[in-house]
Amino acid sequence: MEDCIFCRIVRGEIPSDKVYEDDRVLAFRDIEPQAPIHVLLVPKTHYASIMDIDSDTFGYMQTITRKLASELGIAEKGFRVVINTGEDGQQSVKHLHFHILGGRSMQWPPG
Ligand code: AMP
Repeated sequence: MEDCIFCRIVRGEIPSDKVYEDDRVLAFRDIEPQAPIHVLLVPKTHYASIMDIDSDTFGYMQTITRKLASELGIAEKGFRVVINTGEDGQQSVKHLHFHILGGRSMQWPPG
């Protein structure tokens, strides 16, 4: 059993502000939101990063991202999906997650 913080959120050992859950994924609001909408989408199975996940699960996360964007009201104006990976990517939690950010105009380039 994985001891990582997102595994513990998936198991309900740490509370989260859930926005969606099914048998494969969980989406919850980021504890330090960087935009009016900032949701984290995680697979329930532990994958350390985008380098480890299988294409089927990754594709499922894309399907759920689209659904969530519609339900959160950000599909029409647009949003950003961020997958921080590894040290240079500033990934702080080593359990793959999509940041789904919206509700404001984003900046580019990222810092
Ligand atoms: P990253 O830096 O890409 O690994 O993103 C990790 C994200 O997890 C950060 O945006 C944190 O604010 C968020 N985070 C950490 N702990 C929690 C928690 N208990 N509930 C919700 N979000 C969290």
